[in-house]
Amino acid sequence: MKENLVKRLMTSTKCNVCGRHYQAEDIGILGHEDELWFLTAACAACDAEYLVAAVIMEDRQPKALADLSDVEIVWLEDGDAVTVDDLADMRDFLRDFDGDFARLFGRGKA
Ligand SMILES: [Zn+2]
Repeated sequence: MKENLVKRLMTSTKCNVCGRHYQAEDIGILGHEDELWFLTAACAACDAEYLVAAVIMEDRQPKALADLSDVEIVWLEDGDAVTVDDLADMRDFLRDFDGDFARLFGRGKA
C-alpha cells in the first residue's frame, strides 16, 4: 500500500466540520500497522484537524473508494496534542479489535 494511494482514498472523505472534501495535501501519514493507518487530516477551509485511524484493506483496492465510509474511519477530536502514547494506546486497542466497526459504534447489534 503506497502512501499516495492512502491519501487519494482519503480524498473521498469530507471534513466533519464543514463538509469539504479533503485534498491529498491535507492528509498527513503518521504511520501504519498492517492495514491500519494513522493519519492526520487538516481541513484547508475551516482549519479543523483530526487524527484518523483508517482500516484500508489492500486486497480491496478497487472497492476501497466506495467502501471507505465513515464507518471504517475513526475520527478523533483534536483536543489535546496527539502523543506517541496516544497512538500506542490506539494501536493496542485496535490490535485486539476484531474490525467490527458497526458493532463498535452500536449499529451492528440488536
Ligand atoms: Zn472543514
